[in-house]
This record gives sequence, structure tokens and C-alpha cells, in this order.
Amino acid sequence: MSFIVKCIDCGHTAPYFPTSVNCPRCNSQWREAQYDYETLAKTLPLQLPDRPFDLWRYRELLPVRSPNPAITLGEGGTPLVQAVNLGMMLGCPNIFIKDERQGPTASFKDRQAAVTIAALKEAGITEMVVASTGNVAIAYSAYAARAGIKLWAFVTSLVPAVKMREIALYGSQVIKVTGSYDQAKQVAAEFARQRSLYQDMGARTTTSVEAMKTISYEIAEQLTAVFGPVTPSEGRQPAWRTPDWYIQAISGGMGPLGVAKGFAELKQMGLIDGIPAIGVIQAEGCAPMVEAWKQGQETAKPVSSPRTHIETLATGDPGRSYTFLRRIVDDSHGAFESVSDEEAFRAMHVLAKMEGISAEPAAAVAFAGLFKLVRAGVVKPTDTVVINCTGHTMPPERLVLGDGWARNVVLPSRVMEETPQEGLLAALSRVAPDRFPRIAIVDDTTEARLLIRRILQSQGNFTIFEASDGKEALQLIEREVPDLIILDLMMPELDGFAVLDALKAKPETANIPVIVSTAKELTADEKDRLKGRIQSLMQKGDFMNDEFLDEVRALIS
Ligand SMILES: *Cc1c(COP(=O)(O)O)cnc(C)c1O
Ligand SMILES: [Zn+2]
Repeated sequence: MSFIVKCIDCGHTAPYFPTSVNCPRCNSQWREAQYDYETLAKTLPLQLPDRPFDLWRYRELLPVRSPNPAITLGEGGTPLVQAVNLGMMLGCPNIFIKDERQGPTASFKDRQAAVTIAALKEAGITEMVVASTGNVAIAYSAYAARAGIKLWAFVTSLVPAVKMREIALYGSQVIKVTGSYDQAKQVAAEFARQRSLYQDMGARTTTSVEAMKTISYEIAEQLTAVFGPVTPSEGRQPAWRTPDWYIQAISGGMGPLGVAKGFAELKQMGLIDGIPAIGVIQAEGCAPMVEAWKQGQETAKPVSSPRTHIETLATGDPGRSYTFLRRIVDDSHGAFESVSDEEAFRAMHVLAKMEGISAEPAAAVAFAGLFKLVRAGVVKPTDTVVINCTGHTMPPERLVLGDGWARNVVLPSRVMEETPQEGLLAALSRVAPDRFPRIAIVDDTTEARLLIRRILQSQGNFTIFEASDGKEALQLIEREVPDLIILDLMMPELDGFAVLDALKAKPETANIPVIVSTAKELTADEKDRLKGRIQSLMQKGDFMNDEFLDEVRALIS
């Protein structure tokens, strides 16, 4: 047999069977799969080129004896997409999104379900119990349906109804527990115990952690395809690339536990040189791990009633997973961070509008966390970052979209028959106003103009004009009379100060509000020259701050 499980507590090793969950020597449930890394280091790189890009391409490193093609749904092998616009916005060009929405049930739980169900099927299991905040139960239900395994899914009553219906559609029995996720887990465990059914044990489930590590293998292969292999040090093979950061939103923390193990294995096999910093993000209303880490504590104090709308991330008691994750984060020089629901919802909009990626709020938590880490200087502008986009919002949640996201066109039938053209125009004029607020962006660098344009467009409807120097700006402003001017100070020839002088000298333009953007600290003298003549002064990196958009809205209304 090519893999074993080793007890984390007493070091005892034993053959792996999915149904024997306790260490035979010390009874611990914390055990880790191990493989013949020395042999695999030589054989795997030769085998990979002939294999399809999916999770089973690493089958020798997974605890399944023979992968079952009848169960697979094409799991793993998700794209790594460069986030060009987010990169520009954050001043951090090498941001890559591991698009786990593209799994069979649209979250990264598909990996876990595919490997676990394959192992259970192999072991002859026909019925199982799982507690879930939604996505685990959806993924397990899909694979259990294919494998002919009966699934009992315990979910909290806060799980969105659409998710519950999807679980039921796959034929699983949904049991709604009115209580916290931690309580739902207890009820599920008791149910499984009474009926002697196999139950999923979260981060203690070997197959789940092992499945998650395939994310790190894929990232290393994909980054190598983008940047080329790392130049080998003397006498070594060229190594695969690793990012400087791997960032993910966490609930119980299974994802990063698996991913960190994957990178450690690649290192052990000599396929990579370094391990990325691991950044894990929680929702503020349920962030026991972040709080413990920031206070330097070894164990996390459970949150008994989570205060977040983001149900997917509502593990209040991380238990021992925190201890393991803390070590991983510290050893890798990573970080724990939390974000508010509000920040996550905003990030969800930014991600959709800038990158065309619709993520569920839980996944948006990771992006909001990235924004925070970049602004705090923890993630450096030169760092290569891979961020796990773990779940798709399908359908987009009402909470996030608010009112007015769609407009109706109702065509009165009588008018349409008599004067169809007029009827149509009248109806369309109600769809959108004839005139949007008009904003002029004056900046000599193309990227800066593009960035400001994108940020504005991502938040509302504006008519935007651009000028790339002072002279062009004055002509433009006179011609178009915008409602707001965003003005760069440092421009060759006619600079921002001169433009401002010219605008203030003319009654037609003297009262147009101006936001000045500047890349450098201003001298006292320069600040004096702006005093009373502009509405706001922004540092160039500040454009993503919420104040910028609040300011814009206030000035044009
Ligand atoms: C499960 C899940 C998480 C949290 O993952 P863990 O690594 O298990 O903490 C984050 N986002 C989404 C969308 C999820 O489904
Ligand atoms: Zn043991």
C-alpha cells in the first residue's frame, strides 16, 4: 500500500480506512496521510504531462485506491485567472484568482466531496451524515447521488432556502436545525451515533484535507505555466513556482490546512523551493481565530452566537484546527484578518464589476481581506498573490443587490398599435435618465485615468470625459461643463495649479467642484495654493477608499 495515516499525537502509523477514524494506540482523531514521497518525486513529474488537468492527475497523492470514473464530475483543474483590474486598483499587479466557482457544484467543497465519496464508495459505505452551512452539503449530495449513497444533511435554518432546495433536489434528506452551526454539528453527530452511520468529521476527515491540497499542486503548476519554472540552484532540478501569498476566507479552516499540507509535500519532494505566506480571513461577526491570533493566544475562545449574515463562515468553535492553522500562518509569515459584512458586500460588487466574477459573500470576504492586507502594507506591491474564489453566488443574494437593480419596460398596448415608434421611445425614456452626472478626469498618465474611470463606473452611471494635459483639460471643461473635475497636479507644461487658476478666473467654470489627486505629499506652500479652491484632496492610492465614492456622490448631487 502506498499510503498510510500517521497519528499527530503519538506518531503511530496505520493503514488507511475511511471508517476507522481513531488512532488504534492513543484514540486520537487527528491523523495525517503520508505517501512515498521519495518515489513520487521521481515518478510524478514524468506522468503529469500525459494526464488531464483535473484533481485526479495527482491520484498517487490521494487516499483513494482506485479512482472511480463513474463518480467523477470533472472536479478540480479550475482556472487561475489574473485579476488585471483589481491589480491595477490595488497597485499590486500580480493578483491571481483561483476560480473554484467553476467546480461541478460551484464551490471548492467539490474537491472534498469527490475524494471523500470515492473513498467511501470504495469502502462499501451506503449511508452518511453531514452537518453543513450549505456548500458542503450541496457538494456531498451531488457526489452521493452519483455513488448511490444516502445522505442526511443537517443545516442551520439560516442557510439560504435556494441552497436547501438544491440539497433536496439531489435526493438528500435535509434536516433544518434551528440553532448555530456548532449546534447543528452536535445534533448530526448524535444522530449518526444512534444509527451507527458514517459521519463527516470536518478537518479530521483525512480525505477532505487531502482533497483540498490539490489546490496547491494546481496553483504551482499554473503559475509555472505563466512565469516559467524557477531557475534551479546548482545541482537541482528546475522548480515549480509558488506565489508569495495564498489567501482564503475561512470558517473551520479546512481549506488552508489542506493547501498548506500540499505545499509542504511539494517542498518535501523538491518540486518547489518556498512555501507561500498563508492569509486567512474571517467575517468579523464570527472571527474566533482572528481574535485569538491577534491576542497571541494558543486556543480560540468559541463564538457562541455568530453575528454575521455570511452563514457559510459561521463556525463559532474552531477547536484544534486553530492550533494547527496558527502554526501554519506563523511559520509561513502569513496573517489572520477579519472584515465586516459591509466590507465583504462591497468587495463582492467590486469583484463583479471589475473582473466579471460573481462570488458568494463568503468568497468576497477573502477579497475584502486582501484589500485590507494590501492597504496595511502586509501584502507588498511586488508580491504574487493567489486568492481562492471559493463559491458562486447563484442566484445573487437579495441582501447584496438592494432595490432598483432592474428596470421595467411596460409597453401600453393601445399606444403601441397606433404609434409604435413614439410608444417605444416614451417607454425607454423611463428606463434611464437622459443625462447622467458628468465627470472630467484630468491626468497625464493613461493608467491613472483608466483606473479612476473603472472605479467610478463600477459604482454607478456617469458620463466620463478624459483629458491628458492641462491645455486639453481647459478646452474640454469649457466645452462639456462637467458636474465634477478630478484633477491631477503634476502634469508637464500646464500643471494642475495652472488649470485651477484658469478655471477659477472664468465665471462659467469657477463653481465646478474639483477633487485634486496627487501622488506626492504636498508642501505647506502648495497646500496654501489649493485652500478654499478645491473640495477635496486625495492621495493617489486612496481611490479605493469608500470616502472617495461618498465624496463623489455628495459633490454631484
Ligand atoms: C466552506 C467555505 C469556506 C470556508 O472554508 P474552510 O476552509 O472550510 O474554512 C469559504 N468560502 C466558501 C464559499 C465556502 O463554501
Ligand atoms: Zn495516536
